[in-house]
Amino acid sequence: MIICTNKNALFQAIDKCKAQGKTIGFVPTMGALHAGHISLINRSTAECDTTVASIFVNPVQFNNPNDLQTYPRTLETDLALLETNNCDIVFVPQVEDMYPEGMQNLEHYNFGTLETVMEGAFRPGHFNGVAIVVKRLFDLVQADKAFFGDKDFQQVAIVKQLVQQCTIPIQIIPCPIVRESDGLAMSSRNVRLTADERIQAAQISQTLFAAQKMAKTHSVQEVKNFVIQTINAVPALEVEYFDIVDDTYLQSVQSWDDAERIVGCVAVNVGAVRLIDNVVFLS
Ligand code: AMP
Repeated sequence: MIICTNKNALFQAIDKCKAQGKTIGFVPTMGALHAGHISLINRSTAECDTTVASIFVNPVQFNNPNDLQTYPRTLETDLALLETNNCDIVFVPQVEDMYPEGMQNLEHYNFGTLETVMEGAFRPGHFNGVAIVVKRLFDLVQADKAFFGDKDFQQVAIVKQLVQQCTIPIQIIPCPIVRESDGLAMSSRNVRLTADERIQAAQISQTLFAAQKMAKTHSVQEVKNFVIQTINAVPALEVEYFDIVDDTYLQSVQSWDDAERIVGCVAVNVGAVRLIDNVVFLS
């Protein structure tokens, strides 16, 4: 595995792949890797000749300075895990590499209503920060396909929109959520939970799964009330939002007939840690 710590090293590695006519799969991450990330690597190695991962904790997508400061960083184990899973190239840039002009007055993207709901509403500037770094990484890696987790459901919609707006020649492949054995969606932030919070956090996905079943016999509003009340009844958990939306425009639906594919998205504060999850409701 080639480890590139700056853009020049990455250019060289990518040039070599391109010269050999190899297809490139790309998995952007912020590190602290777990089986969810590795599922994306595996998908990429299965579908592409060369797999490139990036590890970069992107400061401009953090709206909460404490979240940025406490974000787990485990570079050595990440690199070992990538190597074991047949990643070919890993890009580990410094902040100065990604933002040579500094982090003020950066470009501004407009994603319309996609960025005014859910994560967009509760994390101002977050998706603009995501779009900035993803665009820069896509320009550097020149991949054929990029693999993103459905856990960050709204992020997938934003990245698809970015690709369309900027006419980037890349295919975005959404991949299923990988969960712990008790159902908790894997997340780098899970390691920040106390033992007690970790146990209670399982109620997030358990409630979403119960809501999936309930949807067959109850209205959208009833399911919304159930999810919010059930999660809030768990002492360590506090719902920031739960919404039931169509999977294209991410707008709230009023009835199960409003869209072909409907998704329930939740953000929950578990002590000092903010977690997100979602489930698909079939109409
Ligand atoms: P992050 O390092 O959190 O920015 O995540 C990097 C990529 O891994 C994103 O596309 C995430 O959606 C994806 N990812 C994170 N957690 C999971 C998970 N539990 N299952 C599947 N993909 C995930």
